[in-house]
Amino acid sequence: AKGAGRNIYRFFEPEMGVAARTRMTLELSLRRALGGEEFEVYYQPRVDLKTMTVIGMEALLRWNHPELGQVPPMQFIPLAEERNLISPIGHWVLRQACRDTVDLMRKLGRPLRVSVNLSARQLRNSALPAEVQAVLDETGFPAPLLELELTESALVEDIEHSAHLLRQLKDLGVKIAVDDFGTGYSGLAYLRRFSLDVLKLDRSFVMQKESHTSHFDFIKAFVDLAHALKLSVVAEGVETDDTLQFLCSTACDEAQGYFIARPMPLAALIQYLRSPSLL
Ligand code: C2E
Ligand code: CA
Ligand code: CA
Ligand code: CA
Repeated sequence: AKGAGRNIYRFFEPEMGVAARTRMTLELSLRRALGGEEFEVYYQPRVDLKTMTVIGMEALLRWNHPELGQVPPMQFIPLAEERNLISPIGHWVLRQACRDTVDLMRKLGRPLRVSVNLSARQLRNSALPAEVQAVLDETGFPAPLLELELTESALVEDIEHSAHLLRQLKDLGVKIAVDDFGTGYSGLAYLRRFSLDVLKLDRSFVMQKESHTSHFDFIKAFVDLAHALKLSVVAEGVETDDTLQFLCSTACDEAQGYFIARPMPLAALIQYLRSPSLL
């Protein structure tokens, strides 16, 4: 019973670490940001390796903090997850990404796919499929052009529940991508357990000495395996021309990375997509 009071008191104890103070301040301003105009969605283009054209983009959240400047997602997403703020934030990103992409497709007169990151917490929320459907209805965004990215650790956390929710999401007509593939140790069995559409090979996986023959064979084997499972493959974190050329020599379907384009605000993306030569 004394616990709560003591915790409040503890806020003011001098030994409270700077890190804890910062987290407290961040949590308060994160709640404020949700109600205001501080969040912004950036977009990173995704290129089809056969045609070398942009076929879509990944939505990446940015927080423009009035005093701290732009706070990187790695600094506030884990906190948002911990403090139960990730579902409303994720919902905001999804809605904004669908709105922006509808607008973009209208301006450019061609279809574009958009992928949105979901955290493990959001996957635990049984209302997620209904929320996604509501956003599709509200924005008029075509379900088959929406891709939801989940890490393998989020998927395997509770396999039964994940499989159930993924089926419901797939019933809406949206696509499911495994993010950061190659960074976990979950084995490959889960790839068959879920109805997935896309594997996103993590940067660390793609980057390794791309000239090395065994690495080439390794990546090539993964791409072939994914294709055998009817999954398409996106290479993330492509930073050099060499890596891009290497990927083109495999059957990898798409690529994304700084060498192609950095994540950018919507206005810059419109300019980028309108410029005739991209690569
Ligand atoms: P992620 O989903 O793996 O996103 C890719 C990250 O790699 C992005 O970092 C992107 O800017 C960065 N990146 C892209 N190309 C390159 C490259 O060539 N080299 C390098 N070094 N990095 C590259 P960002 O935007 O800082 O996001 C970091 C992570 O934060 C994301 O990793 C994702 O896990 C999380 N995140 C971002 N937005 C959201 C969101 O709306 N919801 C959730 N739940 N998580 C998000
Ligand atoms: Ca992602
Ligand atoms: Ca990733
Ligand atoms: Ca990542």
